[in-house]
Amino acid sequence: MSRFLAEQYQPLVAYTPGEQPTNMKYIKLNTNESPFPPSPEVVRAIGNESVRELRLYSDPTAGKLRKKIAEQYGVKASNVFVSNGSDEILNFSFMAFCRHGVAFPSISYGFYSVYADLYGIDSKKIDLTDDFRVDYRDYLNVGRAVVIANPNAPTGIAISVDKIEEIVKSNPDHVVLIDEAYVDFGAESALPLIEKYDNLLVVRTFSKSYSLAGARLGFAFGNSELIADLEKIKYSTNPYNVNRLSLLAGAAAMDEKDYYMQNCRKIQENRAYTTKALEDLGFFVLPSSTNFIFAKSEKIGGEALYLELKARGILVRHFTAELIKDYNRITIGTMEEMQTLVATVKEILTEQKRG
Ligand code: PMP
Repeated sequence: MSRFLAEQYQPLVAYTPGEQPTNMKYIKLNTNESPFPPSPEVVRAIGNESVRELRLYSDPTAGKLRKKIAEQYGVKASNVFVSNGSDEILNFSFMAFCRHGVAFPSISYGFYSVYADLYGIDSKKIDLTDDFRVDYRDYLNVGRAVVIANPNAPTGIAISVDKIEEIVKSNPDHVVLIDEAYVDFGAESALPLIEKYDNLLVVRTFSKSYSLAGARLGFAFGNSELIADLEKIKYSTNPYNVNRLSLLAGAAAMDEKDYYMQNCRKIQENRAYTTKALEDLGFFVLPSSTNFIFAKSEKIGGEALYLELKARGILVRHFTAELIKDYNRITIGTMEEMQTLVATVKEILTEQKRG
């Protein structure tokens, strides 16, 4: 730390992103990326010509992409916000809507508490139930902004939209942000509720179901006034927040939504296979509606399994927090990757027994 860092940031504990190793090629099941490549239109859209146009700034209104998203999801372009990854929407939202306090689950996406700390926001961290579920009743009339990942991460468990609606309805004077990063893998979206409630923001990403994690593209749906607020924050920080190539990639991906939704169905199949195979090996696996599973075994500790897998070329995500330290979060990849994972886990358990 230099002596120049503003005092308020000195105690900040920054978010730790999942490993992105460059030293060797792993089977990468640690950051919930898609194992499938972007669709052919995306590859075509980023041709030589668009690279030449990088000399020009990008469209700060993200007009074309917002229009495509609006068409695909049946809303108006004024209900859509586009950003540099959905992390940026979370950042802007904590800045804009959470000043007077925020509530979120104590086990959830780790960035929520980092943003709260960054802005000095009082956060009420609400414990999950004993079986790792979000109990919607804990969020009724909380008198502060609410942020919920639905499905939640790293548990993978979703709650129904009628429960989300109860939360939104009971907190009319505060923004309720529903982070739907993983919704395409089998949960219900709260999107239809944005017409009815002016305090609901639904946040999405191109990083998971749309195979574009490296493009850094997120989007959000909400009442046009909420969207205008996000635009105000964007124009006050970084108007050209999304680069030209990512705008093109996102628009092309929207044209081939079916391809991506089919990939989501494949992920669901591979998830069912992996869940069953790990359960057969004695694992306890939480019921996932996402492109990852959260699993633990009585036979090996969470960190030990993570390290053993890593040594064998497979990366998964291990969290050190006490309540979840026995678990690993395993991204669902191709069937071949999942078969390798299962075979490798089996090998590790056999060696453990012998050892
Ligand atoms: N929300 C949740 C719940 C996530 O797991 C992630 C990805 N780590 C994000 C948001 C951020 O995704 P991105 O910035 O890539 O859109």
